[in-house]
Amino acid sequence: MRAAKTILFLFVLLCVCAPARRTTSQTKAQNKRVVIAASVLLDGRGRVLRDTRVVVEGSRIVSIDPKAAPVTYDLRGLTVSPGWIDAHVHITWSFGPDGKNAGDGVTTPEAAYTAASNAWLTLVAGFTTVQSVGSPGDLPLREAIARGALPGPRILTAVEPLMGRGEQSGTPDEIRAFVRKQKAAGADLIKIFAAFSVRRPDMALSREQLGAACDEARRQGLRTLVHAYKDAVRAAALAGCTQVEHGMLATDEDLKVLAGKGTYLDAQGGLVLENYLRHKDRFVGTPGFPEESFALVEKVVPVYLDSLRRASKIEGLKIVFGSDALAGAHGRNAEEFVIRVRDGGVEPMAALVSANSLGAEALGMADRIGSIAPGMEADIIALDGDPLKDITAVRRVVFVMKGGVVYKNTRPSARPLRRNR
Ligand SMILES: [Zn+2]
Repeated sequence: MRAAKTILFLFVLLCVCAPARRTTSQTKAQNKRVVIAASVLLDGRGRVLRDTRVVVEGSRIVSIDPKAAPVTYDLRGLTVSPGWIDAHVHITWSFGPDGKNAGDGVTTPEAAYTAASNAWLTLVAGFTTVQSVGSPGDLPLREAIARGALPGPRILTAVEPLMGRGEQSGTPDEIRAFVRKQKAAGADLIKIFAAFSVRRPDMALSREQLGAACDEARRQGLRTLVHAYKDAVRAAALAGCTQVEHGMLATDEDLKVLAGKGTYLDAQGGLVLENYLRHKDRFVGTPGFPEESFALVEKVVPVYLDSLRRASKIEGLKIVFGSDALAGAHGRNAEEFVIRVRDGGVEPMAALVSANSLGAEALGMADRIGSIAPGMEADIIALDGDPLKDITAVRRVVFVMKGGVVYKNTRPSARPLRRNR
């Protein structure tokens, strides 16, 4: 009996201690010094460093020192880069058990697991920070990842977006109250639908309503992302909003207003359109996706590419990276790079920087993420290939470190180091 009690006691002790021991070793792992060797390193700000080493302590980069030793991770032969930032995803948006589009508002256990899976797929694809725009379901996922309970990218969320519905959107005061409500719920930013699509490009909010939303957000210390087409693009810039999403049908003169005001443009429509076409059967007939709207998707592709090409030529216009990843696209976010470079004529380095230091600047986080430099979060990825020569290398992310923790390390070790150079 005594022996049985002792065994039981030991068992309880083990059960209690096991998680504690794990936490301790994890803490130790996070505090130890790690040296990463790179033969080609993109610093995230447009520079290429060669034959150097990155020293990480805890969650931060402490130095770039070619002589640092011993090497913990030998990433020579690969292209090392800061982890990417996707300014526009819908991280909880998934297909349901029937395989059809289920949107981003489902709260079943299955939907929660799928959202966690979306986060994992996004992280191992090289995206260490994403902005989800937005759903209340983002909040528990953001928190679980932030406390280390689930692997995933750092998440910023808009919680509930402000839907433009003309007068029904509310008075300016009601709109201001809506913005404060999102802030109280834990929003990192405010998402605003000011115009809906190429098919319905008219403004869905008056200038006064849009002005109230962006002004109140600014007062609350929050940024604003405005889903806009045509006239709403310029209106968002004039209203002092932070960033425009999509932006199709804007004229060059509108885009120059954005450049002058310092309004960021997330000129996206690449992956999201590709994804709708790829998974057409899973979207058609689900809420918000009538059959007739799909006939237009293919026609919108050249409109998007024309917008992107023109925007890329506007001097001083800050174009950031956003994929609009939703059901079917999580983990394929990097396809947006491929489309922008291959079809949109964007320079590879400009495309990459748009998801690094420029993307970080747009989030107001340039001092923490988006670059490989002393003091920054240790968000470091490596690609098998050279994206400056072949943009499809962004599909081959073989190493992912976020905040000093390695989540993926599948470097093909059998290959000789010189393979890519
Ligand atoms: Zn979106």
